[in-house]
Amino acid sequence: MKKLLESLKVPSGKKIDLRQDYDPGYIGHFMSKEDAEDTTAAGIQLLAQQQDKLYAQNTYALLIILQALDAAGKDSTIKHVMSGVNPQGVQVTSFKVPSAEELDHDYLWRNYVALPLRGNIGIFNRSYYEEVLVVRVHPEYLERQQLPPVLNDQNIWSRRFLEINNFERYLVDNGIIVLKFFLNVSKDEQKRRFLKRIEEPEKNWKFSAADIHERACWDDYIDAYEEMFNNTSTPYAPWYIIPADHKWFTRLAVVSAILETLDRLHLAYPEVTIQQNEELLAAKVEMEKENVDNAGGIKKEKKKIGKKS
Ligand code: AMP
Ligand code: MG
Repeated sequence: MKKLLESLKVPSGKKIDLRQDYDPGYIGHFMSKEDAEDTTAAGIQLLAQQQDKLYAQNTYALLIILQALDAAGKDSTIKHVMSGVNPQGVQVTSFKVPSAEELDHDYLWRNYVALPLRGNIGIFNRSYYEEVLVVRVHPEYLERQQLPPVLNDQNIWSRRFLEINNFERYLVDNGIIVLKFFLNVSKDEQKRRFLKRIEEPEKNWKFSAADIHERACWDDYIDAYEEMFNNTSTPYAPWYIIPADHKWFTRLAVVSAILETLDRLHLAYPEVTIQQNEELLAAKVEMEKENVDNAGGIKKEKKKIGKKS
């Protein structure tokens, strides 16, 4: 898996060609869904164990960013990969078209307030990266941001890349580990999934008319994504381009990358100090005394009842 993950990681400081270099249908050395099932299940279980330590240690936080075109499987990846973890330690935030209040703040604000607490995993279903994706593809979104005209120039994208890199550097330097996934679905597979959403009544809710308009901008999105990877995959906050035409492979790759990242943190339950240990023992003795007292109480009770009858 290590080698596989390395091939999915976007190299920092090197230009990639998203269309050429990354195959959405890639499944590594696995033959089928069944072939990967045990590995994925073991990964999900191990993630639950690691999360327990992350939470107990209360030192690091993990921020997972998910970006993709529509129907690439962000929601189902979250549902499956996180199926074993303790909900108390995970927060998922889905970023939609910004509200009026959000637009009156700088673009990082709504992301900032949603960052995970120490010991927690935060999942961003879309994120501030939309600011160099949908906002770039549809300039009318930028117009709504009320930026001073002098700042709304052609350098805005390179400035945003820099701001994002600096922001992530700051997070990592404060113990918030940043992990970024792009679920790479092909245009053909997106069509198949859209048709399913239209044809199956219980999937209708997942489809919106806007999806078809976004599909029409496919090439613009791929260009924007490519620029984003080439500018924001850093050694401290790397992007992974996850093949997404086979959902089972997406889940396996995502859980593996999360595990590899957590592994590097050497998570462990907090060490108990001598004093804490003494307190634990004292509490135990106290409660054992309680048992003895209670047993005495029960005996007395029985005696009373015995007298009555
Ligand atoms: P969905 O994820 O299908 O619920 O759709 C959310 C929509 O919100 C997508 O079309 C995103 O492109 C859009 N969105 C998310 N963040 C932003 C943003 N910062 N500016 C404009 N649109 C956004
Ligand atoms: Mg949608």
